[in-house]
Amino acid sequence: MSKVKYYYDKESLSYRKIERKKRTTFKYATIFILAAAFFAFIFVFIASQYVESPKERALKRELQNAQLQFELLNKKMEHAEAVLENIADRDNNIYRVYFEANPIPDEQRRAGFGGINRYKNLEGFDNSKLIIESNKRLDILQKQIVVQSKSLDEIKILAEEKEKLLEAIPAIQPVSNENLTRMASGYGMRSDPFTKVRKMHWGMDFTAPRGTPVYASGDGVVERADSNSSGYGKHIRINHGYGYTSLYAHLYKYNVRKNQKVKRGDLIGFVGSTGRSEAPHLHYEIFKDGDRINPINFYYGSLTAEEFNKLLEHASLENQSLD
Ligand SMILES: [Zn+2]
Repeated sequence: MSKVKYYYDKESLSYRKIERKKRTTFKYATIFILAAAFFAFIFVFIASQYVESPKERALKRELQNAQLQFELLNKKMEHAEAVLENIADRDNNIYRVYFEANPIPDEQRRAGFGGINRYKNLEGFDNSKLIIESNKRLDILQKQIVVQSKSLDEIKILAEEKEKLLEAIPAIQPVSNENLTRMASGYGMRSDPFTKVRKMHWGMDFTAPRGTPVYASGDGVVERADSNSSGYGKHIRINHGYGYTSLYAHLYKYNVRKNQKVKRGDLIGFVGSTGRSEAPHLHYEIFKDGDRINPINFYYGSLTAEEFNKLLEHASLENQSLD
């Protein structure tokens, strides 16, 4: 309750109530409210600098969580980078070497992005550095994956080529030779069965009864199946591609025609003794780029190491060829 104030009126010689004018009251009230509002504002402003509102606290927690998640993502990227590096390493040192492709240089695998600043729109925020670094890292990782993927595509093609090559080149013995007893004479200097003079024997002889099946030693096309070469009698030449040709001589009968496609292991003819031959046997030669080479090195397709050694021993015996 506000105090009632009085004053002494000389004219009436009495105390009279002081009546404040309403306007004045309103003015004081307004000033008071404005001042109060002003101080309240200052107080709230200062307080807000030091005290967090619940909303601010929530936002701050959210931001902290986002930063934590970014750090976790970076850890995951680190792991992915390590895995990819390991794959790239194997790619360069095993796969590409095996298929005779040049390794992909590190600079090419790790190439960044020159020129324009791709991360300009991410600049100017408190977390810009974290976000830009993470983006850059992921972009590089992505590019490395593309390089790696292309490399594997290339290797796939090379592997398919290699598979064709492996199927094409002569790799088995041309007659069934389970006990490895059929080899009569190997490649090298041997005495001629007719003249008894030592001369070069350009192939391998396998003794076998007339009519024994003869098999193609690799995939290819029959280039010749005739007896128009002196000495060989009825013979077959298979062109395997990649510079390889195999020759099967002194046949009794053909099972293929010229220009026919054959697969490794196909029956192409039968052992005989046609041409310059002393007894039924198969004379077998391999050509690489037109030169005759030792067939002993081309039986890996069907022999164990032990069997190969036995065959090698047999083939190197200095004996008489059957031609
Ligand atoms: Zn021979």
